[in-house]
Amino acid sequence: MRILLAEDEAAIAGFIKQGLEEEGFAVDVAYNGKIGLELALDNLTEYDVILLDWMLPGISGIEICRNIRKINNEIPIIFLTAKDTVDDTVFGLEAGANDYLKKPFAFEELLARIKVLLRSKTGEQTVFESGGVLLNTEVHSVFKNGETVELTQKEFALLEYLLRNKGKVCRRTRIIEKIWDIHFDKDTSVIDVFINAIRKKLDDPGNDSFIQTIRGVGYRIND
Ligand code: CA
Repeated sequence: MRILLAEDEAAIAGFIKQGLEEEGFAVDVAYNGKIGLELALDNLTEYDVILLDWMLPGISGIEICRNIRKINNEIPIIFLTAKDTVDDTVFGLEAGANDYLKKPFAFEELLARIKVLLRSKTGEQTVFESGGVLLNTEVHSVFKNGETVELTQKEFALLEYLLRNKGKVCRRTRIIEKIWDIHFDKDTSVIDVFINAIRKKLDDPGNDSFIQTIRGVGYRIND
């Protein structure tokens, strides 16, 4: 899952980015409105959620939101702002935001609201299963034949992505776009390292891996 965060206060941006990365999200940060709008329009299909500060240098969060909504009504948008009068809230929601969080907020509250929006976007599915492997996004846990297996955040994000697309081939470039942030150098061979780590933890020894390699293209978990 990948998130765009437009926030000009470095301390707040850093705190949100770190928290979300610990939860397994890839986070692109824009420190002004112009970059925020550019990143949003260039990568719209890559983002699962967009977080917009209201007051940004250059272009405001409201303007970014309006521009996104001209071309995309699906992507969840949350405003983060010190503005808190009823009028401002209504104005933000009318611009096309799905939710509104008043600063200062607890990170846990932001995370909870992101999860609510993701649930409604992805049709509530929170449990994914294949060949004795079960992944539950609600409790952020993976089980193999009922036993908990510890995955790193990136391993978890990669497995979640493959399971969400069960039966389909996941292309390497697409995996990078969904799971790594914009500063990643796009060397897709890093995916193999994570796939191998997941296989080591979850495959049955002696059997074919539950993650199929599609040579030159990517990976697939079969239905
Ligand atoms: Ca600001």
